[in-house]
Amino acid sequence: MEIKTDVLVIGSGIAGLFAAHEISKYADVIVVTKKDKNESNTNYAQGGIASVIDPEDSFDKHIEDTLKAGAGLCKRDIVEILVTDGPDRINDLIRIGTEFTKKNGKLDLAKEGGHSMARIVHAKDLTGKEIERALIAKLNTIKNVKIIENTLAIDLITEHNIKKLKNEPLNNRNCWGAFVLDCNSMDVIKIAAKVTVLATGGLGQVYLHTTNPSIATGDGFAMAYRSGAKIGNMEFIQFHPTSLYRANGNESYNNPSFLISEAVRGFGGILRTIDGKEFMTKYDSRKELAPRDIVARAIDNELKVRGEEFVYLDITHKDKEEIIEHFPNIYNECLKKGIDISKDFIPVVPAAHYACGGVAVDEFARTSLKGLYACGEVSMTGVHGANRLASNSLLEAVVFAHRAAKDIKIFLKNYSHSFPDIPEWDDLGALSYDEKILISHSIKEVRQIMWDYVGIVRSNQRLDRAARRIHNIFVETEDLYKRTKIFEDILELRNIVACAHMIIKSAKLRKESRGLHYTLDYPNQLSDSKIKDTILQNLNP
Ligand SMILES: Cc1cc2nc3c(=O)[nH]c(=O)nc-3n(C[C@H](O)[C@H](O)[C@H](O)COP(=O)(O)OP(=O)(O)OC[C@H]3O[C@@H](n4cnc5c(N)ncnc54)[C@H](O)[C@@H]3O)c2cc1C
Repeated sequence: MEIKTDVLVIGSGIAGLFAAHEISKYADVIVVTKKDKNESNTNYAQGGIASVIDPEDSFDKHIEDTLKAGAGLCKRDIVEILVTDGPDRINDLIRIGTEFTKKNGKLDLAKEGGHSMARIVHAKDLTGKEIERALIAKLNTIKNVKIIENTLAIDLITEHNIKKLKNEPLNNRNCWGAFVLDCNSMDVIKIAAKVTVLATGGLGQVYLHTTNPSIATGDGFAMAYRSGAKIGNMEFIQFHPTSLYRANGNESYNNPSFLISEAVRGFGGILRTIDGKEFMTKYDSRKELAPRDIVARAIDNELKVRGEEFVYLDITHKDKEEIIEHFPNIYNECLKKGIDISKDFIPVVPAAHYACGGVAVDEFARTSLKGLYACGEVSMTGVHGANRLASNSLLEAVVFAHRAAKDIKIFLKNYSHSFPDIPEWDDLGALSYDEKILISHSIKEVRQIMWDYVGIVRSNQRLDRAARRIHNIFVETEDLYKRTKIFEDILELRNIVACAHMIIKSAKLRKESRGLHYTLDYPNQLSDSKIKDTILQNLNP
């Protein structure tokens, strides 16, 4: 089956939906999304979206905070775009129907770690859910946007899967849409598009402990890599310091760790060891409000030194009414698990949370393949550098989705070539689905290896060991992929393995500790000029 459209958007989080909204003003858009349309990392975002709103605040302050967090690797011009476009995009979200929390008729601004000012626009502690709600409600009223759920993009259509074009040099490649799997009928559909926008979100599921929902299997990073697009800075994985600890350990693939938002520390939360002792003063003068990597490493160190499984976050000194007013969702979720956060300390551990690297893009979200744009978490714009400042990711998604839409308008206007002869999907596999155990076991293995050896603290030995193990799983997976009739789990395993490979490869290239990448063998940060972005490109797609 073949569908043709002007623009194909893959993913229905904030980046995909906002891009679709903007593009619908001048072209037809199909959005494919692998589960329900609101299932996304966006839907779980609690804290909010950073922007300069307070008259006491300034663009310069937000820029400086972002650069400081990024540990010398942010692209200053791109950070300037992020920050200066921010207030207009917040207004767009409000116009679309997002109801942010207000105080005395003005946007209520929260403060989070690493920010020198209160600038987090939020909808209580369910900001992402409210943004998704508003965007979906708006898009439901727009005729030339079609959202197709339960449809999983398998691979991008580029020269790499068209036999007679396979030898086209990498710097002259195009993207003409994607092969997608209809997860109801299990048919593969060819969607031919003049422009494709990759907005597939993150890759937290590559790790055993993650705050990301099950959709975050890194599909976009893997699809782009397989088609020869440039990918950058994959070693910079942000571990959120405070996800709710669960006594029975191993999170299942479909069951992310519940996040205790940064805003709880901003609100005055204190981290304590199990015996009740405060410990952040030992690590950083900003204490609980130090950037996430510092807090996560401090917790990791306390756990390793003391041989304990969690630390506590304490907000029992705050007023109960205020706690419930600010954090209704966190209050209720914890209460369901028997923890009254107004009286009890909250047991927390770090968990994989955000990918700062991704598909390398320019200031208009253009990738290295013509006709392929990437925005949101799957992209690497250069705003986060080696570490992301809290609440800058929703902002990045919306700012660069908007800029992509602006550029796509020009791209379509000048579009003169016709589609090549795109072959049908070749699914030769015969193995049936009852071999699922082979796949679920490999997924578990990858997640454990990545957690143990490529987590918060790394070393050459750990990375070498992880690389060997992942290589074996890669070979087994490719073999299984060729023999198996495709279905969701084999596709996701393949993508998780590809992401693990990229993270390890980038981590091995960075022979220093910087931002989120900390290695025992090179504990110091090198001078800025030595290692810039770690760019990967699959040279033989
Ligand atoms: C618990 C949590 C809290 C957070 N809190 C904040 C916060 O307060 N502030 C902030 O700025 N950031 C926060 N973040 C990060 C932020 O939510 C994400 O970075 C952002 O939402 C990413 O948006 P996105 O549109 O790029 O991707 P997502 O919102 O993840 O959307 C990706 C979409 O792509 C679809 N998809 C994926 N693969 C495929 C495929 N192969 N085929 C078809 N569809 C596919 C998914 O189903 C989904 O619809 C948080 C993240 C988490 C997990």
